Amino acid sequence: MAKAMNESQPFRAGADNRTIDLRSDTVTTPTPQMRASMAAAEVGDDVYGEDKTVNRLEALAAEMLGTEAALFTPSGTQCNLLALLSHCERGDEYVVGQDAHTYKYEGGGAAVLGSIQPQPLDFEPDGTLDLSRVAAAIKPDDCHFARTRLLCLENTQGGKVLPLDYLEAAADFAKANELALHLDGARLFNAAVRLQVPASHIARHFDTVSVCLSKGLGAPVGSVLCGAAAVVANARRWRKMLGGGMRQAGILAAGGIHALNFHVERLAEDHANARKLADGLATINGIQIDPAAVQTNMVFVDVGEDAASLHLFLGERGIVIAGTRTLRLVTHLDISTDDINVVVDVFRSYYRDRHPE
Ligand SMILES: *Cc1c(COP(=O)(O)O)cnc(C)c1O
Repeated sequence: MAKAMNESQPFRAGADNRTIDLRSDTVTTPTPQMRASMAAAEVGDDVYGEDKTVNRLEALAAEMLGTEAALFTPSGTQCNLLALLSHCERGDEYVVGQDAHTYKYEGGGAAVLGSIQPQPLDFEPDGTLDLSRVAAAIKPDDCHFARTRLLCLENTQGGKVLPLDYLEAAADFAKANELALHLDGARLFNAAVRLQVPASHIARHFDTVSVCLSKGLGAPVGSVLCGAAAVVANARRWRKMLGGGMRQAGILAAGGIHALNFHVERLAEDHANARKLADGLATINGIQIDPAAVQTNMVFVDVGEDAASLHLFLGERGIVIAGTRTLRLVTHLDISTDDINVVVDVFRSYYRDRHPE
């Protein structure tokens, strides 16, 4: 609910003085129902394969993605690393986006821990990797070169959904070039909901897919790696080696099961809220934004030199955002439509002084 603005006495923006945190969909906290199912979870020692709740989560994830098997992992970063380690050997190479999470935001883990050389390429504006440029980057079979072994895509990429016909072309391409194909599908369900297809329609093009349970799906911890049984068995071995074999992890897995059962369809609300936010911002004199570019739960807005003072202005009013120059505003489970109205009002009051009508 929008409250009256008072410059001398900043208010906390959200209902109940809650902070409106738009930095990322990782900031979601478990709902009371999710906490209840976690508290009640049946557990065992998962390293012995005896945690029934982890086993149920892995079966559910595999079923939803249409793969033979799945593996519960402590984080998306480890999940991607396990996939890379399972597909590639020391001295192999993987082709990946220059701004891909796996390459840029995971501490260089594939190189550090796997001796896997990355070959980064620029993403196209739609979040794809141009397959002719990938083809040009594949190294010939020659002792001078690392062995190009894997192609890694990301979906959604910066909130953008990879087109299904592109995924099909990428799968054909990978097969023709004898590359394994991994999807960093941290936000795979956002893509599936946007396309109104089952997640399996996206996953079926890949050898392995990682999915975050702890982003917009709202679980506190965890990701799943989905793929063929043999690859997942290999990944399970690597997970143990990396210290990701957890014992009574069913308490965490129960949050993931709840997320998959109850928080997938509702991602459409996050997408609608993101679109509403972009539509609202577009009406403000001084902001340039194309609301039609918003496909899922992320809004990007270039605010140029205003970034630092906007951070401050919004922060004083209980709104937290990410980004310099280009702000990234992410909607999620803990952001309501009312919150969006508040955020647009606060942006409007910031720009009213600086860009008078
Ligand atoms: C968040 C994210 C991951 C995994 O991150 P963790 O914080 O390790 O769970 C991987 N890929 C993308 C695209 C992400 O946004």
